[in-house]
Amino acid sequence: MRIGRAAGVTDTGRRRLRNEDAFICEPPLFAVADGMGGARAGEIAAGLAAAALEEAGSETRGAEGIRDLIIEANRRIWERSVADPKTAGMGTTVTAALVDADGGTVAIGHVGDSRAYLLRGGSLEQLTTDHSLVAELVESGVLTPEEAERHPQRSAITRALGTEPTVEVDGFTIDAEPGDLFLICSDGLSVMLADKQMAAAIKSSDGDPAGAAEALVAAANDRGGEDNVTVVLFEMLDAGVPEVAPPTPEEPSAVDDQEADTSSPEEPVSETPVSENAVSETPASETPPEPGSLRRHGAGPGGRLAALLLLAAIVGLSLLALYVVVRR
Ligand code: MG
Repeated sequence: MRIGRAAGVTDTGRRRLRNEDAFICEPPLFAVADGMGGARAGEIAAGLAAAALEEAGSETRGAEGIRDLIIEANRRIWERSVADPKTAGMGTTVTAALVDADGGTVAIGHVGDSRAYLLRGGSLEQLTTDHSLVAELVESGVLTPEEAERHPQRSAITRALGTEPTVEVDGFTIDAEPGDLFLICSDGLSVMLADKQMAAAIKSSDGDPAGAAEALVAAANDRGGEDNVTVVLFEMLDAGVPEVAPPTPEEPSAVDDQEADTSSPEEPVSETPVSENAVSETPASETPPEPGSLRRHGAGPGGRLAALLLLAAIVGLSLLALYVVVRR
């Protein structure tokens, strides 16, 4: 078994001004972190979590390994929040997947209400259990799952990274099968879409992770986009399936956006690593225009010449018409 195609997308959504989610899409490591805290603290917490995971990612294996990584990430966020009063109380969720060297198993580590799902044989199964108030109320029979979906406190989490010096991490492994598609997402997706709608969006792209990621984000925004939405998808293939070279990206990579977004002196760039080789989407209002988009929106030299020729033709025809009228 081996990892096939993979993709990650993050989007601010329709209601939030900032994106406090972060993600990693660097095989064999995949993760989503959803930060919380005042000012930019949520972004810092999610960025620190992603950085800690990314740093040690390829050296680590198994459920124990990923659990240790998340505990280390917790320590770093906690220490930063103690040292820097502006970030006091910040925290983040994290849901991470690490594929074993032989591709046979996928280790999942999890804190908070970001989720991991597995699409296998056409059905979508939630792998993680939310550490949230409503999930606990559903578990104890106080709320039905339907009531939980509409509950005003549905985003309140009971466990987070960085809010305490230690953290309890859920860790487990899944035996992978050829054709498996793993999805990790922030609650900006799972609050907006029911599992059935997620499955439909993924199937609409024939299981292509990049197309599915775009379709999922678009569907969450179509339903209101109330929160930042982040999705990371990767497929598992039989080792015998030949590798296909990834297509050359048409657009400049997301690196420019990320650098623009992390230029604050409070936060070094290295602390907000969103995967450089994965798709990243930010709304146009917060994104500096790329060279390509300037060319698309403005008239280039060729466009101006065509416009002048057209104008000249119109003026010429008008004069001709006037001449004809005057002659009569
Ligand atoms: Mg969220």
